[in-house]
Amino acid sequence: MFIQAAWQDSPINDLDPNFISPTIIPPCARHEEGAFLGRTLNLNAIPGVFVHNTNLVQGGEYAFIYKETIQEAINIGIPIVESLIVAHEIGHQFGLGHGDVLTPGGLIPKFPNTGLMHPNIPTNLIIPRHKNLLRSREQAPGH
Ligand SMILES: [Zn+2]
Repeated sequence: MFIQAAWQDSPINDLDPNFISPTIIPPCARHEEGAFLGRTLNLNAIPGVFVHNTNLVQGGEYAFIYKETIQEAINIGIPIVESLIVAHEIGHQFGLGHGDVLTPGGLIPKFPNTGLMHPNIPTNLIIPRHKNLLRSREQAPGH
């Protein structure tokens, strides 16, 4: 397991306005891009299947926590707790998905009340399904 504090993600995921050219700035650029506050990766896994909603899978190899993006989100009034982002990414390193339809394994019936692993991280709650996956793990995350 490896967690790295980083400055920000790619230009379209950093919460900064994007530039089409050096002189043209889209007026709604801030609304057109996403913002990754943290991201977990596993370059040795089949893309998208190192986290899963219902099965025990490999998990992530490492995660980044994007310090500047977090601060900018706080500055525009988005309530963010950095420690919850770190805990959420650790959950991904243990192979936990978000519980939504975009994560392999299908929708967890409890979604959107999936607590810590919900994409918006509304609480520090770890739902029973995720606890069961964590408790049944026999190998270190990323393996
Ligand atoms: Zn996530």
